[in-house]
Amino acid sequence: MESTPDIVQAEFAKRFPTSLRRYAEALEIFPGGVTHASRHMRPFPIYISHAKGAYKWDLDGNRFIDYWMGHGALLLGHNHPAIVQAVTEQIHQGTHYGASHEMEIAWGCWVQRLIPSAERVRFVNSGTEAIMMAIRLARGFTGRNKVMRFAGHFHGWHDIVTLGDRPPFDVPTSIGIPGEVLAQVKCLPPNDIRKVEQALSEDDDVACIILEPAGGSNATIPTKPGFLAALRDLCTAHDVILIFDEVITGFRYAPGGAQAYFDVVPDLTALAKILAGGLPGGAVAGRADVMTLLDLSGDPQANRYQRIKHPGTYNANPLSAASGIAMLEIAATGEPQEWISRLTLKLIQGMNDVLRANRAPGCVYGDRGGFHVLVGQRDFYPDDVEQQVAQAGAERLFRGMGHIAPLVRAAFQLEGIDSPPTSGRLSAAHSEADVEHTLASFERVLARLKQWEVL
Ligand code: PMP
Repeated sequence: MESTPDIVQAEFAKRFPTSLRRYAEALEIFPGGVTHASRHMRPFPIYISHAKGAYKWDLDGNRFIDYWMGHGALLLGHNHPAIVQAVTEQIHQGTHYGASHEMEIAWGCWVQRLIPSAERVRFVNSGTEAIMMAIRLARGFTGRNKVMRFAGHFHGWHDIVTLGDRPPFDVPTSIGIPGEVLAQVKCLPPNDIRKVEQALSEDDDVACIILEPAGGSNATIPTKPGFLAALRDLCTAHDVILIFDEVITGFRYAPGGAQAYFDVVPDLTALAKILAGGLPGGAVAGRADVMTLLDLSGDPQANRYQRIKHPGTYNANPLSAASGIAMLEIAATGEPQEWISRLTLKLIQGMNDVLRANRAPGCVYGDRGGFHVLVGQRDFYPDDVEQQVAQAGAERLFRGMGHIAPLVRAAFQLEGIDSPPTSGRLSAAHSEADVEHTLASFERVLARLKQWEVL
């Protein structure tokens, strides 16, 4: 990691003194002092005490407009009253019955009603688990082994998806993965249907194709129009299971997810985040004939050889179910998504205006799912953004802001805004005033970056 300029360290220590102390304690407990790969921060992470709506506060009482939004889980913002009420009521009824319950039926019904591919549903505990299950189902159903995926598409952290997640795309993002596992992964460049066609015609051992439908890593690499429909046709022609990873896009692009928004129905869908209203939870939804592999009723001995055994202590736990039902009831109206979409586009446009007015290099792009920031990149400019992004290629988009990304994030934090370094997401709780405040802050962020001599 690059060293942090002294001036940034000094400003942070002055503004966030309690977080600095807590980080020193955390370093003695957690590897690297953090509990999630993306929480390594420069100069140090800020510790949050509480949150409400579009905001969160740190231990020193500083308020931030939050563009993390629970890594995409909080469509309605922090602590939405309907979710707080549902979870509070449920906690008095019990958190784990070790048994079936009505809440899981209501929750599953919402998924079936909203998600076009959801003939059947099975709940798990996270996006990573949902992808694991979808791949297992595809392999079990087809009797084939290989998993085809696209460079830069993120699918969690289990073994099979560590290859192709970040450049260089032929090196896994983790050690500890057996070569035999990696040999089962075929990683192709995104948006190139000819390459998919060719790969499928050369290999009859492909069980599934998996992708984020709106584009790799939350549409950092947007999907080209027509690609999804062409992929659907190819999968049907080759009897390959098409899996949409809708962990982020599910219920966000539309109440029915990206598959409803783009009108392409996969065989299986991985869901999480918004699904559980901000509590842990995930699901696989899909074709009844594929999902039936999870049906262990009947002769257990025979089923061992013909079925997929899926336990999981917290599957469809009543708290996540209560939270999820409250969330999906509101998400089903489509209103939060439209508000978020409108504000996100306003923010993107406004940030490009700020870059232009300040003659700063870079651009901001995105869609209804969120915004992506490329500041300080001399090969990008704030006009014809969509076209530039379409031509840029996965490697370039991933290089993003390069080494200045953590400092852009730090500059935003000093302005009272917390966002992932190169992207962000709004919620229904964000207001026009929050967007305007962010745009005014962006001017000061650029000035600060110049003062720090990184822009
Ligand atoms: N797929 C996508 C598209 C994601 O964005 C994520 C998490 N950010 C995952 C899968 C993994 O989900 P989880 O963190 O719940 O395991």
